[in-house]
Amino acid sequence: MDDLRKRTWAEISLDNLRHNYLAIRNRLPEGCRFLGVVKADAYGHGALQVSHMLQAAGADYLAVSCLDEAMELRQGGVYLPILILGHTPAAFLETLVRNDLTQAVTCLAKAEEYSREAARLGLTLRVHIKLDTGMSRLGFLCAGAHFDECVDGVIRSCSLPGLEPEGVFTHFSVSDEPGEDNEAYTRAQFALFLRVIAAVEERGGVCFAIRHCANSGALVHYPEMALDMVRPGLLLYGYGDDTGTFGLRPCMRLVTRITTIKHLDACTDVSYGRRYTTGQTTRMAVLGIGYADGLPRLCSNQCSFAVASGFAPQRGSICMDMCMADVSNIPDAAVDSEVEIFGEKSDILALCAAAQTIPYELLCAVSKRVPRVYLTK
Ligand SMILES: *Cc1c(COP(=O)(O)O)cnc(C)c1O
Repeated sequence: MDDLRKRTWAEISLDNLRHNYLAIRNRLPEGCRFLGVVKADAYGHGALQVSHMLQAAGADYLAVSCLDEAMELRQGGVYLPILILGHTPAAFLETLVRNDLTQAVTCLAKAEEYSREAARLGLTLRVHIKLDTGMSRLGFLCAGAHFDECVDGVIRSCSLPGLEPEGVFTHFSVSDEPGEDNEAYTRAQFALFLRVIAAVEERGGVCFAIRHCANSGALVHYPEMALDMVRPGLLLYGYGDDTGTFGLRPCMRLVTRITTIKHLDACTDVSYGRRYTTGQTTRMAVLGIGYADGLPRLCSNQCSFAVASGFAPQRGSICMDMCMADVSNIPDAAVDSEVEIFGEKSDILALCAAAQTIPYELLCAVSKRVPRVYLTK
């Protein structure tokens, strides 16, 4: 990147994205579909660019969190089937159908609302039934005493006019976390999922074409749970603890520049709150990135970034648009030098530790002020 106009930018490698897609795809059982999760602007990578890449590479389905995200894709020329994972009010049923969108149905009451609206308009809405097997978020509750009511509710939902039940899915809460207890929990969620599907088929004669539950964690740790479709997000973007297993590559590199370098005396207070004081004469760089770009203020004094031939420890409170870093030990760091906040050299997991968070949040936090620069070979 030699464009000096850019103070901070996110480089997105669509080649790495294609590599990750193919690496995951190659491990799937014969006939298993691939759904790419592109919610939250494709985890900050740019939903439209990512979706077009996945569409061209042969993905089968996409998922977003809401109607507006789905419409962005449709208006941008994405024609793959799109599943909306979150709630859409029934008043928007016509928009859903006219744009060929698939809606998650999470309870009988919503199924009835959609059905009423569909019947009124003479339309048919494609739906995927969502089962809550242990996440306690969206979906028909189906554990323990809820089992029969859940099975009845799903059967009734699927027989309502104006609804076309294409799929059924559930979501895991600890498939990416190690430990016997977590493994038992995930296996119990999976077993319950299959039991509900079997009962719905047996008692109601309802057969779903697409059963899906495997998020990134399950894809890596429980390949036998792939069923008819997998649903990775983070793994596709090449982040997380498990990327090594599949030989995946990170798709985003967050980069800024040194805007100024000054020589501070020993005992000089740095930044808001005077939370860092130089111990000796210090060659201090001012970087063109702050918390308004997505570098969490919680990382202040807790992280370091790859610059030129070394790593510069960040010093003092991170400001809205800038922060400081010590380049005393990096003689080839100069004004306009690139500084990698995370990417190939600066591990995002180190930044996650400093920010007490997970890669998901740091990727989504890269703000709209930061231009995305797409690289393809
Ligand atoms: C976000 C999401 C996913 C993807 O999760 P990853 O951990 O990023 O693979 C899959 N399914 C649902 C329902 C989701 O909300």
